[in-house]
Amino acid sequence: MKLQEHHSKTLLRRAGLPVPPWSVASTAAEARAEAEAYLRDGAQRVVIKAQVLAGGRGKAGGVKLASTAAEAEQVASQILGMSIKGITVRRVMVTPGADIVRELYLAAVLDRTAKRIRLMGSAEGGMEIEELAETRPEQIHSLFAHPHLGLLDYQAREMAFALGLAAHLPAAAGIAKGVFRAMVDNDADLVEINPLAVVRTTNADGSITDSLQALDAKVTIDDSALHRHPDLEAMRDLDEEDPVDIEARAQGLSFIRLDGTIGCMVNGAGLAMTTMDLVKRAGGEPANFLDIGGGARADKVAAALQLILADHHVQAVLVNIFGGIARGDEVARGLVEARSRQARNVPMVVRIVGTNADLAAEILAQAGEGIQTATSLDEAVQKAVAIAAGSAAPA
Ligand code: GDP
Ligand code: MN
Repeated sequence: MKLQEHHSKTLLRRAGLPVPPWSVASTAAEARAEAEAYLRDGAQRVVIKAQVLAGGRGKAGGVKLASTAAEAEQVASQILGMSIKGITVRRVMVTPGADIVRELYLAAVLDRTAKRIRLMGSAEGGMEIEELAETRPEQIHSLFAHPHLGLLDYQAREMAFALGLAAHLPAAAGIAKGVFRAMVDNDADLVEINPLAVVRTTNADGSITDSLQALDAKVTIDDSALHRHPDLEAMRDLDEEDPVDIEARAQGLSFIRLDGTIGCMVNGAGLAMTTMDLVKRAGGEPANFLDIGGGARADKVAAALQLILADHHVQAVLVNIFGGIARGDEVARGLVEARSRQARNVPMVVRIVGTNADLAAEILAQAGEGIQTATSLDEAVQKAVAIAAGSAAPA
């Protein structure tokens, strides 16, 4: 789950990292009021930033500076409602504008190959890391945290030196450790600060102070660990999620949309993957991965079918159920019931074996046209692939 910048910054704060204050506004008038407060408190400028789950907002015109409250309102009204990479901006962040001396990059990522958390830093901040990795990979400094010992002090200092932050050693090393802590404490698979900036402030006596500040933040939480973090689940931005994903989660279904034409309804993740493999081998393309789970009841089956048919590319539905705890007759009833409520009449091939398979067969036989049955998995797959290819299989 990707978090918006303001939520990501909340997590960085909790990990003790230096983040400038911010507010979130959903109207230009609100943005104006927030800007007024920062300007009154001594900020020279404010930054108005689109809150969307996409990178490169700056380039897209979603990050803008303003020097007065009126200008902040005007800029906010431009940014609110604009579309960035296909996402409509509904909220903006208002934050005091920093006087940037240098922009750096610092991130922690879960490196699945190394099986460790990798800390990545670069003195070349601001630009997108993918671009840097492509053009000047030698500019990226990586180190790996030990799974039990964590990120050690010497490693944090090593990163600080690699970023050219010797003049800010304790602060920079503290930030490196904070990024690592934010990663572990939140079960994140990415914590990215880009830019981490050297920011200049002029003191009352005219002297200047340079300090490090996290000016942008991007955190992604490992979905499989979300159950351990109800407070993070509450940060989910439903506006930016596919309605199909929201519905699947509400129904307790594991559903992943793919781009084929054969909708698959299967119980058990292993069986679902096997079914997809067989569809591919038979020359078809699965439209989705769907595990309806063990002990699936009629209402869950109906919800699953609805999710599958919401995808207009689906030409055939392949149902492969191994009845263990799930009873075949219950699944069959769910299918018949759900089918009668569907606007779209997509042919269905059903294979149900195991508990109450005979009852299931009776129910399906009475269901009439549109539902074909198969006894073996190969037969079911072949029928579904033939239907999707346009040459209806013999009933
Ligand atoms: P992104 O484009 O989505 O990564 O959004 P960022 O928050 O990283 O902002 C993009 C760029 O805007 C940064 O790299 C900075 O150059 C600039 N920027 C962001 N915040 C400030 C600020 O407080 N002051 C100044 N002067 N520039 C800023
Ligand atoms: Mn950025």
